[in-house]
Amino acid sequence: MGRFVVGFVALAVGVSIQAPLDQTTATLIQNTSVKAALASAKANEFRTIEDQIRFSEIPSPPFKETARAEEVRRAFLALGLRHVRIDKAGNVLGDRDGTSPHPHLVLAAHLDSVFPEGTNVKVRRDGAVLHGPGVGDDSRGLAVLVAIARALKDADVQTAGSITFVGDVGEEGLGDLRGMKQLFDDTLKGTVDSFVSVDGSGLDIASTFVGSRRYRVTFKGPGGHAFADFGRPNPANALGRAAAKLADIRVPSTPPTSFNIGRIGGGTAVNAIPVEAWMEVDLRSVDRRVLQTLDADFQKAVDAAVTEENARWNTPGMLTVAKERVGDRPGGSTASDTPIVRTAVAVTRALGGVPISSVSSSDANYSGSLGVPAVEIGGGGQGANVHVLTESFDTTNSWLGTQRALLLTIALTQK
Ligand SMILES: [Zn+2]
Repeated sequence: MGRFVVGFVALAVGVSIQAPLDQTTATLIQNTSVKAALASAKANEFRTIEDQIRFSEIPSPPFKETARAEEVRRAFLALGLRHVRIDKAGNVLGDRDGTSPHPHLVLAAHLDSVFPEGTNVKVRRDGAVLHGPGVGDDSRGLAVLVAIARALKDADVQTAGSITFVGDVGEEGLGDLRGMKQLFDDTLKGTVDSFVSVDGSGLDIASTFVGSRRYRVTFKGPGGHAFADFGRPNPANALGRAAAKLADIRVPSTPPTSFNIGRIGGGTAVNAIPVEAWMEVDLRSVDRRVLQTLDADFQKAVDAAVTEENARWNTPGMLTVAKERVGDRPGGSTASDTPIVRTAVAVTRALGGVPISSVSSSDANYSGSLGVPAVEIGGGGQGANVHVLTESFDTTNSWLGTQRALLLTIALTQK
């Protein structure tokens, strides 16, 4: 979706996917009930936008998604989804049966936003543009899920396979995909044939998922007076040594790989040797093995920094370090010639849209890493300033995103 955003779209490669229009999709789009469902989606786009605003105005910080989950649960119930439930992690699920249980498609959008408690989440409309933190990411995805359930119901579409709609927790911040982990490891374990995450805006299709590992590294020593205790190892020095070593690590540009020290802190006064110094580090790669190597190099750099600081003051073992892993998001990819990706491209083109291939970090990472065919798609419209307070969502022709997600849903539940 053309942006670099933590927890969402990481990098757009900006290449238009060239693929012949799939014959199945051409046939599908002529089907009477499918046509009716598409027409309903367009006609009801104003409702979809109302839903989007309503969801967005319910605060849903990481780990505090309950209130928004309840609103999504009500919407699922109102649209006649079956077995509407909330699982152990807090994901909201609702089923729509097909003529048989398989293929079983899971259609998900995340409930959480990056914004902390107390953020003003009131949405302001300015012509076609909605302004509000979280209005696109991912209130849009939730509204599109509801729109799909509504259109399928309105047009009485009978799918061959079944659909589970999921509003999930734990996508943003330090949520660490706990909603997805619960879903695939327990709630729906072993039953899912394909997975679509509707996340944010635009008509992008992501099938390459960036893996990440995050650490909080804490260096500790005895501390002391800056002058009187000079000669003791200094946690801030060790942090500096580690940061310099990390900065010098060479990573490939293909596959795309990155490292970042995002936050540092520690110490109490300018004239005191700190008792502790800490940093938060984010490591990413599209390739699992490259990420493992980077992780190992990073760990070595930190350990070497501690050894050097202790050696410098001849205080072996006095300075210590703790490396706490605070995030582990597996990477993975669904090959571009697999049916789910080809279908996503075909339905986008069938509706007159231009499919854009992007690389992302989203809920689809987890299913992708398990080998369940997965894509992440934008929900239409055009988002801007994602993950900042000035986030906006342009609703111009946003119905096209709703239709695209709907047609993909129908196509993926064909035999
Ligand atoms: Zn998102």
